[in-house]
Amino acid sequence: MLKGIGVSNEMGMGKAVIIKEEQPIYEKHTVSNTSDEVKRFEQAVDKFIEKTNVLAERISKSAGEKEAEILRGHILMIQDVFMADEIKKQIENGECAEAALENVCDSFIGILSVAEDELTQQRVTDICDLKKRMLKILLNIEETDISTLPENTVLCINELTPSMTAGIDAKNIAGIITEIGGTTSHSAILAKALEIPAVLSVKDATSLIKNGDTVIVDGTKGEVIVSPSENEQAEYKTKKENHLKEKSELQKYIGLETKTADGHKLELVCNIGNPKDADKALQCDGEGIGLFRTEFLFMSRLQAPTEEEQFEAYKSVAIKMNGKPVIIRTLDVGGDKDIPYLNLPKEENPFLGYRAVRYCLGNKQLYMAQLKALLRASAFGNIKIMIPMVTCIEEVRAVKALISDIKKQLDNDGIAYNKDIQVGVMIETPSASLIADILAKEVDFFSIGTNDLTQYTMVVDRGNADVSYLYSVFNPSVLRSVQHIIKCAKNENIFVGMCGEAAADKMLIPLLISFGLDEFSVSATSVLTTRKSISSWTKQSADEVAQKAMQLTTADEVIAYLKQTAR
Ligand code: PEP
Ligand code: MG
Repeated sequence: MLKGIGVSNEMGMGKAVIIKEEQPIYEKHTVSNTSDEVKRFEQAVDKFIEKTNVLAERISKSAGEKEAEILRGHILMIQDVFMADEIKKQIENGECAEAALENVCDSFIGILSVAEDELTQQRVTDICDLKKRMLKILLNIEETDISTLPENTVLCINELTPSMTAGIDAKNIAGIITEIGGTTSHSAILAKALEIPAVLSVKDATSLIKNGDTVIVDGTKGEVIVSPSENEQAEYKTKKENHLKEKSELQKYIGLETKTADGHKLELVCNIGNPKDADKALQCDGEGIGLFRTEFLFMSRLQAPTEEEQFEAYKSVAIKMNGKPVIIRTLDVGGDKDIPYLNLPKEENPFLGYRAVRYCLGNKQLYMAQLKALLRASAFGNIKIMIPMVTCIEEVRAVKALISDIKKQLDNDGIAYNKDIQVGVMIETPSASLIADILAKEVDFFSIGTNDLTQYTMVVDRGNADVSYLYSVFNPSVLRSVQHIIKCAKNENIFVGMCGEAAADKMLIPLLISFGLDEFSVSATSVLTTRKSISSWTKQSADEVAQKAMQLTTADEVIAYLKQTAR
């Protein structure tokens, strides 16, 4: 069995097709007729745009607009004035078009590669994809076409680039295995959107698996079984049947209210990263947006979005959600989320450094543009503003002061906004948790960010595999913190939600019901499983489980107990 990262909650079995791409190789040479060479480059750009538009159209139909946007982003990149000018400058200095393109792309890749977060790594993949496709056009090499693969194919490839994925015909693909890529890579996004079983980052997959091998791809567990025995095949078939049955059972929760078995109504909303995700949230029957991670609007570009661009993005979500709550978090940059053009200082301890609200308060022009865009957009729906990484009350007061300054400006200019817009905070640091009683008097709502709360409470880097054994929300310290935060919110009668990954954890749900959480904000794909789980608990049954769990002394004990009770 081969291990990798399972990224779509699906499983499939089929025959392996190994794809090895032809590499664009060229001889570096000096050109004398530089204006002809510039023309050759420009023609290649035109061809690139034409081909990419066709691919984007195709992928928009098969997977959706969000996936097509990835490819449209490549067009924006190649049209970027800085990039195009730099390439032309190098050609004018005698470089051939291929080398000029490669030099410029490589310098971008070099800058971005320093950041270790997955989203910036994704940008690197985008530029590599763009570079390779442009080189192939310049060298007249046909692109790898995977649109005509036979039925029941398990596609096995080093890396599935965004452009290649456009060619996938989902009905012929029983699974995808790649050697590169993680949970937020484009291959992962696409596999999820097309509901194709996928296991990524399987080391040496294209040499260990041979063309025609029968392969089971288990995206639920991140496992690949090559040439399975009869027993393994039978086991797979039963598992798949159960999986499909469970999936179809979930459909009956579409359109239902989210409430406990004894009728206590709760809010079940979605986490999103861009306006297009709001469509998915609606399709999956989310009741609003509990976390819009706005830093995604700042990524995959070379400069910050303007106030106007942000206004349009926030407004579109507010309109789509049509009066349902839309909690928009202000820029949460830093730590694992680097945005190169913001020039964050290189720090010894970036997770403890100049990030999120700290950075924003130090860069007022950038922050004011975002806050103004949010206030203007609040005239179009039920937008609430959320401040990330709060550690002290002064930060909240400083942001609120900026908001009230902007409100005055808007009043003077006669621009509409929601005068009663709610302002809340993420509780994701031990400090915020410890002063939750003080914060609750100052804000309209809390949202518990368990991803960071676990990291900072356990003092364990959330991305470091060596210490991941400590990274669990089920540690008694984290559970006590969550219980305390909810209690402080209740004491002040303010709304309290949770937008960390733990909100969708079936083992944790009874505890959250018992503590009195008002809102669960989960990924769109977890809406129905979360609604189902909530509906199976009464307040009393949840209290019983919570009381027992809160007496246990280790994460392992808590997990062992909650595994038995999970519904
Ligand atoms: C969290 O920390 O729990 C959270 C929701 O924010 P992010 O994962 O974006 O840091
Ligand atoms: Mg966080």
